[in-house]
Amino acid sequence: MNLVLFGPPGAGKGTQAKRLEEAYGIKQLSTGDMLRAEAAEGTAVGQRADALMKEGKLVPDDLIVEIVGDRLIREAKRKGFILDGFPRTVPQAEALDGLLARKGLALDHVVSIEVDDEAMVERITGRFTCARCGAGYHDTFQRPKVDGVCDVCGSTEFKRRSDDNEATVRQRLAAYHDETEPVLRHYEHQGLVRKVDGMAAIDDVTAQLEAVVG
Ligand code: ADP
Ligand code: AMP
Repeated sequence: MNLVLFGPPGAGKGTQAKRLEEAYGIKQLSTGDMLRAEAAEGTAVGQRADALMKEGKLVPDDLIVEIVGDRLIREAKRKGFILDGFPRTVPQAEALDGLLARKGLALDHVVSIEVDDEAMVERITGRFTCARCGAGYHDTFQRPKVDGVCDVCGSTEFKRRSDDNEATVRQRLAAYHDETEPVLRHYEHQGLVRKVDGMAAIDDVTAQLEAVVG
């Protein structure tokens, strides 16, 4: 099962990808997580990406395809992948099509998580994750069961992304509308797009996704 989770920043791609990963054993591949790991290691790619991420701008296509390409082929040959945050431009989608076709592989579904823009600012500015295991939370919509303690691993350390502030979110939403939205039309032409209501509660979105994936 090879899936793309599609939607603006804050739509719930990461939240749902983690749930699908657990339910189906297919691997979440988040290009944002890969870039943040490169930046934390201080690699040349990471340093270049970090400056753009802080401004809410997209990282160049060739660099992204380079970091995700081999991994997605490897996962596709195992149980499959859930792409989260990639492809984000039409050239990235074309590169992905080419990579898969050359290996005799294909996408099964592109699931568009449909949401209202304004709600994304509140979602992103309230987002935080467990510093140890990466479990995702929200100040209002997904608080830990015990305040200050991670539900999954019990850690009491949490972190917030430096690009999760209102000014950068607005820039990221603009980049989404300008450069990423056309990717949906690219896949609509291929008959791959399935839509779910991303304004529903988190569990309800999971149920809609499970209905699509089958
Ligand atoms: P994305 O990966 O698409 O950028 P996330 O999955 O990180 O988005 O979700 C952004 C924030 O919104 C997180 O803090 C998450 O807990 C919260 N969230 C995700 N889905 C929903 C939902 N359906 N309703 C309310 N809050 C949500
Ligand atoms: P995300 O974690 O998906 O919210 O991505 C965070 C940031 O990483 C984005 O604002 C971009 O700067 C960069 N990024 C992640 N994925 C891509 C991609 N596929 N193409 C270009 N830039 C990306």
